[in-house]
Amino acid sequence: MTKVVKFGGSSLASAEQFKKVKEIITAEESRRFVVPSAPGKRFSADTKVTDMLYGCYDLAAKGRDFSTEFSAIKDRYYGIINELGIELSLEDEFNTIKACFIGKAGRDYAASRGEYLNGIVLAKYLGYNFVDAADVIYFNEQGQFDGKKTNKILSEKLAGMENAVVPGFYGSMPNDTIKTFSRGGSDITGSIVAAAVNADLYENWTDVSGFLTCDPRIINNPAPITIITYKELRELSYMGATVLHEDAIFPVRKAGIPINIKNTNKPEDVGTMIVESTSQKPAYTITGIAGKKGFTVINIEKDMMNAEIGFGRKVLEVFEKNGICFEHMPSGIDTMSVVVHQAEFADKEQEILAGLHRNCHPDTIDIETDLALIAVVGRAMKSNRGTAGRIFSALAHAHVNVKMIDQGSSELNVIVGVAEQDFEAANKAIYDIFVETKL
Ligand code: ASP
Repeated sequence: MTKVVKFGGSSLASAEQFKKVKEIITAEESRRFVVPSAPGKRFSADTKVTDMLYGCYDLAAKGRDFSTEFSAIKDRYYGIINELGIELSLEDEFNTIKACFIGKAGRDYAASRGEYLNGIVLAKYLGYNFVDAADVIYFNEQGQFDGKKTNKILSEKLAGMENAVVPGFYGSMPNDTIKTFSRGGSDITGSIVAAAVNADLYENWTDVSGFLTCDPRIINNPAPITIITYKELRELSYMGATVLHEDAIFPVRKAGIPINIKNTNKPEDVGTMIVESTSQKPAYTITGIAGKKGFTVINIEKDMMNAEIGFGRKVLEVFEKNGICFEHMPSGIDTMSVVVHQAEFADKEQEILAGLHRNCHPDTIDIETDLALIAVVGRAMKSNRGTAGRIFSALAHAHVNVKMIDQGSSELNVIVGVAEQDFEAANKAIYDIFVETKL
C-alpha cells in the first residue's frame, strides 16, 4: 500500500504543526511520499510565507531595498528549524534566493521558494529524500502542465526511492525557469505525485475535516460529507465549496485513485473520501449545497424564437465576441436567459446590449442583477422522486421567490436562482428540509 500525503500551509505553519505532521506520517508506513505547501498562517492576522515572498520580490523588482522583508521570511524558517531542534542551515539557499531576487528571476520563482525551502526542512525533519519539483514537474512552451513528460520522469525518479518529499506548487519551463500553478496549487502537485507512483490513496491534509453539506458561515456546524463522487464535487466546487484546488482532481481521477481530505488538527476524523463512483448511499438525498452571489441574468424575448434557426448561436456569439463566459442558459419558448458573472458583464454591458439588438433583433431585453445561484447536488437525486418538489416547497415556506431553475441533464444537481438578499434564507430552507429532517 502506498499513500501520497499532501499537507497544506496551515498544517506546516509552525514547529508545533510540523510535529503533528510527523506523527501522522510515521503512524503508517504506507505514507511514503509527502508534498508540502509553504508555511501558512499561524493565526488569522498572520501572513502566509507565499504572500511574504510575493511582497518581497515586488520590492526587489522595483529596485527597492527588501532586506527587512527578506529577514522576516528567514525568521519564519529559522523559527521552525530551531524549535524542532534540527541541525540545518539554509544560508546557501537564502543567498542564492537573494541574488536571484536582485537578478529579477520572476514572481513565480519567488513564490515557489516557499515550498522549496519548506520541502528541505520537512525532508530533514522526517529523514526522507528531498526531490526538487523543478527536476520532476514540467510545463510546456505555452505554460501548460506537461503531464506526459512529468509522469515519465517523476515515476522513474520515485521508483527507486522508499520515501521522498516533493515540494508542491511549482515546476520548470522548457527554458529551465520556474513556473507555479495557480494559488493553492500544491494540491495539484500532490495529485500528480499520486498518479506517478500509482498510489492507492491521495491524502490531502488540511485544517478542516473535509467537505460539509453546507457553508458553515450560513449553517452552524453543518453535517460533514463522508463520501462524494468527483462529479458531485465538481458541481459543488464550481459554486465555491473550496477545500481542494479544482484542477487537483484530474491526475488522480484519470488513474482511478481516490482522494481523502483529512484534518491535521483532528486526525481521528474520517474526513471526506472523493471517489469515481460508489455504491454507498449518501446519508441524505442531497450530498451538499453550495452557492454564490454576484450573477446577472439577461432575459431576451422574441416571438417565434423557437422557429428561428440559429437564434441561440447569434445570442451567444455576442457574449463570445465580448469575451464573456456564460454560466447557465435556461430557456422558454419565446425567451432565452443568459446568466453571467455580474462583475465581468458590467464592463461590457452596453456593447453586449447593442450587439444583441443588432445580431438578434429581439422584442425586449431586460436585465436582472444581484442574483445568487444555489446548487443542490446529490447522486441520490436521480433515484428519489420529488426532490425538486421538496426544494421548491421549502423555498416557498421560507418566503423565497425562485427566479430561475436549471437542472443539469445528469440529474445530479438542481440550480436555483434567488435574489441575493434571500441567499442565506434559501440555503437554510434547503438544508433543513434534507439534512435536519434526514430526507
Ligand atoms: N503556497 C501556495 C499558495 O499559498 C500554494 C499552496 O499552498 O498550495 O497559494
